Amino acid sequence: MVKIKIRDMCFGYGSTPILEDVSVDIYRSSFVSIVGPNGAGKSTMLKCINKILMPNSGDIHIDECNLKHMKRMEVARNLAYVPQSSNRIFPTTVFETVLMGRRPHIGWFNNEIDKEKVWQVLEEMGIEDLALCSFDELSGGQQQKILIARALAQDTGVILLDEPTSNLDIWHQLDVMESVQRLVSEKKVTALMAVHDLNLASRYSDQILMMKDGKVVSAGKPSQVLTTE
Ligand code: ADP
Ligand code: ADP
Repeated sequence: MVKIKIRDMCFGYGSTPILEDVSVDIYRSSFVSIVGPNGAGKSTMLKCINKILMPNSGDIHIDECNLKHMKRMEVARNLAYVPQSSNRIFPTTVFETVLMGRRPHIGWFNNEIDKEKVWQVLEEMGIEDLALCSFDELSGGQQQKILIARALAQDTGVILLDEPTSNLDIWHQLDVMESVQRLVSEKKVTALMAVHDLNLASRYSDQILMMKDGKVVSAGKPSQVLTTE
């Protein structure tokens, strides 16, 4: 069953075309990696799917809904987005950082249901021990898992991740990929991740979209993509 359907999507920053005629189907409860070199358009594609950017033409459907007609809150109820790791400092504990994920567009919120949800996602990610640590004193790998937990706390069917493994050492990369793979198989979320390492993508994901110069040049199971490249 198709969760995200993209048809003939084009996008440009100003007059520079970046994405050209992208058409893909992302199946429900699958782990899909968008693989490609820097500048291929991976981030731009995730930002279009999260409606941070508006395509110049084409359509994106989430389930049966056209993204064009979805309001910001509706987008947030359907899609959680983990931006590429930045140097943002969260002046709070891990618990509070994840709690903020519950109300991404309202800001602070704090009732018992939200708190319970935060404990649940911290446990799912195996990081409940870190709840009271300060976010900015943790390692890059731990921070990345907390940012994923923050997105999960949003309780959406889809999670979009922009290069969550960049800047991590290989052990933390494997750890983050395993966490996402486990969430997809246990919680039945659909994960769409930008990643530049084909090896990492093919080891963990169900489907790979290979991007080059703003186009999807190949799509399929890792074994199919690897044999046609
Ligand atoms: P990737 O995530 O695959 O590295 P991006 O989607 O970030 O690729 O970028 C695709 C292209 O769009 C690159 O050439 C990049 O320089 C350009 N680009 C990205 N963001 C902007 C922007 N805000 N304004 C203009 N060009 C941009
Ligand atoms: P990514 O490719 O993963 O988005 P970058 O480091 O390329 O990360 O970009 C960081 C920020 O700079 C993003 O917000 C992106 O949109 C913007 N950006 C990237 N390339 C350009 C560009 N050529 N002109 C203007 N802004 C850009």
